[in-house]
Amino acid sequence: MSSVPPKVTRDSGMLFMGSKSRPVVEDTPIDLNIPDNYVAHTLKTQKALPPVTWDHWWRELNWLNVAILSLTPLLGAVGAFYTKLRWETCLFAIAYYYVTGLGITAGYHRLWAHRSYNASKPLQYILAAAGAGAVQGSIKWWSRGHRAHHRYTDTDLDPYNAHKGLLWSHIGWMIVKPRRKPGVADVSDLTKNPVVRWQHRYYIPLMLFMALVLPTIVPWLCWGDARGGYVYAGLLRLCFVHHSTFCVNSLAHWLGETPFDDKHTPRDHVLTALVTIGEGYHNFHHQFPMDYRNAIRWYQYDPTKWVIWACQQIGLASHLKVFPDNEVRKGQLTMQLKRLRQTQEKLAWPSDSNDLPIVSWDTFQEQAQKRPLILVAGFIHDVSDFTEEHPGGAHLLIKMIGKDATTAFFGGVYDHSNAAHNLLAMKRVGVLDGGHPHGTDEKSVPPSQRLKIARYNEIGSAYSSAAYSDGEGLLN
Ligand SMILES: [Zn+2]
Ligand SMILES: [Zn+2]
Repeated sequence: MSSVPPKVTRDSGMLFMGSKSRPVVEDTPIDLNIPDNYVAHTLKTQKALPPVTWDHWWRELNWLNVAILSLTPLLGAVGAFYTKLRWETCLFAIAYYYVTGLGITAGYHRLWAHRSYNASKPLQYILAAAGAGAVQGSIKWWSRGHRAHHRYTDTDLDPYNAHKGLLWSHIGWMIVKPRRKPGVADVSDLTKNPVVRWQHRYYIPLMLFMALVLPTIVPWLCWGDARGGYVYAGLLRLCFVHHSTFCVNSLAHWLGETPFDDKHTPRDHVLTALVTIGEGYHNFHHQFPMDYRNAIRWYQYDPTKWVIWACQQIGLASHLKVFPDNEVRKGQLTMQLKRLRQTQEKLAWPSDSNDLPIVSWDTFQEQAQKRPLILVAGFIHDVSDFTEEHPGGAHLLIKMIGKDATTAFFGGVYDHSNAAHNLLAMKRVGVLDGGHPHGTDEKSVPPSQRLKIARYNEIGSAYSSAAYSDGEGLLN
């Protein structure tokens, strides 16, 4: 805790949404005093704009974004039609796609929105400039929205709520005026950062220079292809960077697996990783957002992670955050168990001693006169539909009718397979009084049930000795 009193300033209207005359404590996080029921309360009380309808739809659009997002591909496509692509320009455009894309993924996203590592000043300036070339708003604006996305994922306080459809989370949320403000998210750490402030202040000239001027100048000076540079490395490259990033909000919340948690929409998929410079392991990312990695396996495609790691090797980055592997694997195990449980629930299981009638030895003998009943490990089994199927021959079963075949079954005559034991358990019809099987006796638990998945509130219920008794005669 700092003993220095926090600095009090006037609200500039940038840091806070509130009244301009209200004094503001700059060091106080904006979400410090929100109510405990903030999400429900805000969704209930804060008025949202009505859904967009066909009447006056043009009034509901953010025309600046519409212009940027439609003119870039349009001018790029027309330009490409009339401009020959030189191989030098082609390679430069691809390289510049990665530079500006990494400005977003390694800079805006993993460094500033999530603080997943520390970057030196030179690296911060490089990332801030490169990110400006991707034309996605300033670091401060972008990170504020992204922090809200993580905090309120899949709710209406998430600016790119994936539940509103693929098109909305990809681009709709930018071209339509937002229906409500994103949920509160603190960015006071960023407003104190001189590089973030510099980028925010000079965003427009920096953005124009990095997005269009620089990619025109470099091919012009190096191999005399200003027009190709403008069209391919400027416009078309920008269009690719846009949709590459947008895929993190759309595709990464729609396509793929949920190996760490399936509570929300984020998903892992190699295709998303390929088109987003490694941001496609989004299920992992939403679980462990402060981890500098998206992909945790060496063979998974996450060039952003490799670049951050390389920056560390040359002293430009430090304190790369990694979530404890033990906790990461717990998440994976939980999901694996969940899937196994679903498989388990689709199968039919034998009755246990809680569900079966308790039968005396005399009743067992009497009933065994009428149908083929065999005792194994305390359970009475009706083998009438199996006698002829028995691989060892019907005679060995018939010999055991009305008898205890436990020893013979478990190796005395033949050491039966797991499958045989599982099948036998399906033929249970009763429990012998006084010969109660219990869970600790391996012979009374078929192999398929020894590692059965039980919920925490079910543990102890299976195979308990609390079998009910209705007296006699339920074996009919
Ligand atoms: Zn997400
Ligand atoms: Zn994120």
